Amino acid sequence: MSLIVQKFGGTSVADAAKIQRAARRAIRAKLDGKQVVMVVSAMGKTTDILVGLAREVAKTPPKREMDMLLSTGEQVSIALMAMAIHDAGHAAISLTGGQLGLITDSVHTQARIQEISRERISEELNAGKIVIVAGFQGIDESGEIYTLGRGASDTTAAALAAVLGAEICEIYTDVDGIYTSDPRKVPQARKMDVINYDEMLEMAATGAGVMHSRAIEFGKKFGVPIHVRSSLTDQPGTMIMEHKEGLEDVAVRGATLKEDLATIVMSRVQNTPGVAAEVFAEVARNHILVDDIIQNFIEDGKFANIGFSTNQSQGQEALEICQRMAKERGFGPVDLDEKVNKVSIVGVGMRSHVGVASTMFRALSEAKINIDSISTSEIVISVIVREEDGLRALQTVHKAFKLDQPPA
Ligand code: ADP
Ligand code: ASP
Ligand code: MG
Repeated sequence: MSLIVQKFGGTSVADAAKIQRAARRAIRAKLDGKQVVMVVSAMGKTTDILVGLAREVAKTPPKREMDMLLSTGEQVSIALMAMAIHDAGHAAISLTGGQLGLITDSVHTQARIQEISRERISEELNAGKIVIVAGFQGIDESGEIYTLGRGASDTTAAALAAVLGAEICEIYTDVDGIYTSDPRKVPQARKMDVINYDEMLEMAATGAGVMHSRAIEFGKKFGVPIHVRSSLTDQPGTMIMEHKEGLEDVAVRGATLKEDLATIVMSRVQNTPGVAAEVFAEVARNHILVDDIIQNFIEDGKFANIGFSTNQSQGQEALEICQRMAKERGFGPVDLDEKVNKVSIVGVGMRSHVGVASTMFRALSEAKINIDSISTSEIVISVIVREEDGLRALQTVHKAFKLDQPPA
């Protein structure tokens, strides 16, 4: 019997009517002869509201308690979803991450999935039930509750699809597919029918909030096609899958904006082997996410300024860690800038097209947008710009690469 995973994001389960609508969709798949696993997010803005409450009662809420708190959001929606399905005359059961055996590492609020047990889910599916799983949560070996990072219900869904051998992982959301850029920020953005894993992975990693990037990693590794589509219609959305046709024809597939960034620069770091390694080992030990690294040599190469970008929410913590290191090791002052954005362009075709970077930089300069720093990888070019220029920079590069027009 074929198996399908359907994930519903917050807006798709925001109220009773929407929960019933999602329930009907799952029931339809069941009546089509499929085994159905649903992954459900917290209702509407619940997670944001819980984060806000935590900050009202405490300046720095302990991360363990954040996990206790945030994991409740999904527990509410899975129970309601199971009730809605029962009410429509079908069998269903809700399961938390812990109940189904989704085991994570022990990093509070940013845990990674280590293992997923198939036993409980298979048992329930074989008993004819629709299984409803709480997104974005799991437990570690000792039974403590962990969450997987904001937006990670996508990852729960893709990981389940991978271990259960699902034919497809459907992501139901409030847009009707993947666009060349966030349609809320670039009204001219164009919907794509298909995008390959590598390009989607980079778009997600550089700020396309429509998918959690680790979900794409699971999809790619286990060859699960991911269908991103609207929960309001039956129209096909965008398929994320292995896809080679016409891949090299366009240089740039999409443009992204990352807004919640901060940069840290450590000045006068000794330019001797091993120093950068030690610095970044210490940053990693503290679970600070490093987005891009920037290094400049000064004073004839005797010293370097080493900088990196990180999530804005980790900026203060990163600053304290770097200041401690600077004091211990005799570096110069450490600077935190919380007013930066990153604009990126993504495309596999970049590898075989020339002049992509110069087109991007020229467009930004003509728009009088100053570039703070540049980073590149094989299929991505990113620039850090001032926060106030971020949106305009995104729209400028989207236009420069004619992303609003279908590829020739
Ligand atoms: P959900 O709650 O269903 O997980 P999200 O808010 O996480 O939904 O993701 C959907 C949103 O992602 C859209 O409303 C859209 O504004 C945003 N988005 C960002 N980049 C893109 C893109 N390239 N294509 C489509 N949507 C995007
Ligand atoms: N509810 C969580 C969040 O808002 C997880 C998710 O929706 O994917 O981040
Ligand atoms: Mg999401």
